[in-house]
Amino acid sequence: MDENCLFCQILDGHKPASFVYEGKNIVAFHDINPEAPVHILIVPRKHIRSINDLTEGDRGMVSDMFFVARDLAKEMNIEKGYKLLLNVERGGGQIIFHIHLHLIGGWKR
Ligand code: AMP
Ligand code: ZN
Repeated sequence: MDENCLFCQILDGHKPASFVYEGKNIVAFHDINPEAPVHILIVPRKHIRSINDLTEGDRGMVSDMFFVARDLAKEMNIEKGYKLLLNVERGGGQIIFHIHLHLIGGWKR
């Protein structure tokens, strides 16, 4: 828990979010500024700044993030086409420094 971190505040219930999944290690909620009809953020409960900060013990959690993404894509009926995105550090477009996987899709094409 990092009290200055927006996603930790959401995980703690101090800030609102529209949750679509709440598991033991992972949660998912709608992005507040969606870039596509479906835009969900898949977020570990553990505060980790970015992919660069992963440690050996995080292997299971990283795997869980992708399985949650797969399941949510099915649930949202977008399994015919979606993108999974990780922005890493400022140079990679990361603005919230708590690891999250973007699940983006739902285009009509
Ligand atoms: P990133 O650039 O990968 O760090 O992405 C951060 C994402 O968090 C952006 O897509 C924002 O729209 C989203 N975001 C920022 N604040 C909130 C919030 N309070 N609830 C949900 N999503 C948020
Ligand atoms: Zn955090």
